[in-house]
Amino acid sequence: MIVIDVRCSNDHVFEGWFKDNTSFDEQVESGALACPICGDTNTRRALMAPNLGGMRKGKDEVSPNAAMSPRDPALNDYVEALYELKKHVEENSDYVGDKFPDEARKIHYGEEEPRSIHGEATPEEAEELVEEGIDFQRIPWPKPDA
Ligand SMILES: [Zn+2]
Repeated sequence: MIVIDVRCSNDHVFEGWFKDNTSFDEQVESGALACPICGDTNTRRALMAPNLGGMRKGKDEVSPNAAMSPRDPALNDYVEALYELKKHVEENSDYVGDKFPDEARKIHYGEEEPRSIHGEATPEEAEELVEEGIDFQRIPWPKPDA
């Protein structure tokens, strides 16, 4: 199972669980991957850094059955996937701590070079970023050991 952050044409970002990349591509191609918030099937992979790419057109068919959460994998798989994701993010992006909303804005508005960052944001801050149309993904971060 892999977790892919998906974004609809209305800028909703949500997590999808897929068997592999091919399975993800197939669901997007066939229009089976609908946004759980607005039902839009014009979905694509969300990026860590602000997305400067163009929009891509999908099909209009809506399927309420798109897998947005793990169906059968054991909880262990889920936790393991989270740790793998965390490791990947830590290796491939800069940690900016609670400056995340500021940094994400600077990148979004071109004040800084586009790069991958990760850090913390409160639910309110995250909501503001969404409203400003800033691309980011939310990860249920495994807590560090106390
Ligand atoms: Zn949507």
